[in-house]
Amino acid sequence: MLGHPTFFSTPIDYLKGVGPQKADILKKELQIFTYGQLLRHFPFRYIDKSKFHNIAQVIDETNYYQIKGKVTAMQLVGKSKAKRLVCDFTDGKNYTELVFFQNAQRIAQNMKIGMEYIIYSKPNFFNGILSFVHPDMELSIEDNTKPTLIFTPVYYTTDKLRQRYLDSKGIAKLTKQVINLLKQEYIEEFLPSYILEQKTIMPRFEAIKAIHFPENMEQAERAKHRWKLEELFWIQLHLGLSRTKRNKVLQGFIFEKIDNYFTDFYNNYIPFTLTNAQKKVMKEIRRDVLSGKQMNRLLQGDVGSGKTIVAVMTCLMAIDNGFQAAVMAPTEILAQQHFESFTSLLSSLNVKVKLLTGSHNLSQKKQLLMLLLDGEIDILIGTHALIEKNVVFKNLGIAIIDEQHRFGVAQRMQLWGKNNTPPHILVMTATPIPRTLAMTLWGDLDNSIIDELPPGRKPIITFHYYENKRIALFQFLKKEIQVGRQVYIVYPMIDESEKSDMKDLNEGYEAIIRDFPKDLYTVSVVHGRMKQRDKDFEMKRFKEGITQILLSTTVIEVGVNIPNASIMVIENAERFGLSQLHQLRGRVGRGAEQSYCILMTKYELGADARDRMQIMCQSNDGFVIAEADLRLRGPGNMQGKEQSGVNFLKIADLKTDGQIIIEARQIAQYILGKDADLSMPEHQQLKLKLEKKIKNNNWARIS
Ligand code: ADP
Ligand code: MG
Repeated sequence: MLGHPTFFSTPIDYLKGVGPQKADILKKELQIFTYGQLLRHFPFRYIDKSKFHNIAQVIDETNYYQIKGKVTAMQLVGKSKAKRLVCDFTDGKNYTELVFFQNAQRIAQNMKIGMEYIIYSKPNFFNGILSFVHPDMELSIEDNTKPTLIFTPVYYTTDKLRQRYLDSKGIAKLTKQVINLLKQEYIEEFLPSYILEQKTIMPRFEAIKAIHFPENMEQAERAKHRWKLEELFWIQLHLGLSRTKRNKVLQGFIFEKIDNYFTDFYNNYIPFTLTNAQKKVMKEIRRDVLSGKQMNRLLQGDVGSGKTIVAVMTCLMAIDNGFQAAVMAPTEILAQQHFESFTSLLSSLNVKVKLLTGSHNLSQKKQLLMLLLDGEIDILIGTHALIEKNVVFKNLGIAIIDEQHRFGVAQRMQLWGKNNTPPHILVMTATPIPRTLAMTLWGDLDNSIIDELPPGRKPIITFHYYENKRIALFQFLKKEIQVGRQVYIVYPMIDESEKSDMKDLNEGYEAIIRDFPKDLYTVSVVHGRMKQRDKDFEMKRFKEGITQILLSTTVIEVGVNIPNASIMVIENAERFGLSQLHQLRGRVGRGAEQSYCILMTKYELGADARDRMQIMCQSNDGFVIAEADLRLRGPGNMQGKEQSGVNFLKIADLKTDGQIIIEARQIAQYILGKDADLSMPEHQQLKLKLEKKIKNNNWARIS
């Protein structure tokens, strides 16, 4: 028996003080039907009245403070109806204001000037001035004999519930009843005892009690840790188990030979020495393709870190063993660019590289597909077109997908279908994924990281300018253009159909041609609503150096490689997220020249936007940026979350619980290391429970 189903599924109607009406409203408002669900309604914070603070200690708007002090003066301000009460409050050393908007007159009548009060509240810093708005307030009584609960839980509730006396206190009372009925034997521990003994994990029974009614903050934290760890542990165990299953079931091609193209290329034609990071990744891939299992690897490397050469050499391993390779890019421009890189790197080898694009006419395409089927093509490069049904390989050994977040899991699966045995898969992304997120969302892929840039790169210098520096900006651009550099100017495009986006671009264009006269400068414009052919034409002109300024919306975001373009101006930069800003900036810094990124914003910026600009100016490291992005925006906004269903976590928070994710993963790996398919007797409990969780798709249940 798992847990104690009858106890946890007892309807809340059985609790004292819960009649049909209250039960009904608890169901409607909070979906609480049973004891188990009530216990799962954790407090979101605690009121800690065990400590007092001074006014001088008040620094954090998100914290609660308890202060003893006196009201020395008060004043009703404002017009007759909408009066507010402002009190001067002092702890003996410093002053602050207490402000009341509602019932100001009545509160004023009851306020006792000169008597000692205890206030409890979050602070406000408005224009740098500290105040407390509607604090909890009671007279301080020195010889207080009645015991007070100094540590109380605060529960989420709703107005409708409050009207039925189910405010936070009311919910605490009900929860207390259930806790009092709860017996140790109802709670089953599923973690093997050898794990519990090694780690300081709070036992489940204790943790249920302590999450609701802890004696102090430390106990509350330990209880929270237990529940978060538990939730994350199930996910990690599930991922780990799926991975072992996949490895068992799915055979992979073995690329044993590397003595022909691969070795020839490495010894004679590679144009530079690989960085240590690139070597490390090559070894990881090599190990995979020798293992007899299908490779499923995610390769993360910042823009410009040199992923292409890794892709090329991986293809050569396949070709040396008689297989074909596919390389898939998200756009035509990028596919074209890969094609150029591949053909130029492999020009001295007898390797047949072809490009499949939408611009082939029917007979060209037919011919290409025939060559492919005959094995006359070694490497086929293209866009989504590659996964169409009519694209049939003779013997596809590896598929490389560039810019992972544009291709969903479903599309990856389609590639598998291109051969009886699934080809090896290497997914490359330049949008670094914070480690914790990668472990949780892409936990079924193995992870390789290129965390080192090729030598000799000059870090891009990033500035943040307000609109009032535009003249200085234009002068700077002219100076750089004069010495032969090229400039990107990018406008945000939230929605292609939105007129205001086009307006920004059009106005920007007007401003540019006013300041950069036609007889001296040439300007290309590219935006998403242009025909592909026109876009390609303009991009080509810029790439060939015919135009000096490329004005565009974010269509150039991914992967475009024009080393001579060394300046990136991002207009309305406050409208971009951090990872997008970083992606855009990655378009420059590809040549030998010093590169610059200039973030233009309006004057009034929210705190978040200012943070983003500051982080961009301080760091060039994609991983640092990705971590900051996660911290500022939360996982809900991360790229790729749509494919991965990030929002399943109920207790743990990917933003703050990285350490616990690592811990959960270690425990899961330790267990699976001993018992890969959970067949040992001491793991039966665990296995049953995991299966139930997978079935219910609920990772945070107590019972
Ligand atoms: P990305 O990871 O963004 O795809 P690329 O593969 O396009 O990066 O590489 C960026 C540039 O760095 C290319 O011009 C490439 O030739 C160069 N490069 C890659 N690896 C090295 C290396 N080990 N030493 C020197 N230059 C390198
Ligand atoms: Mg690339």
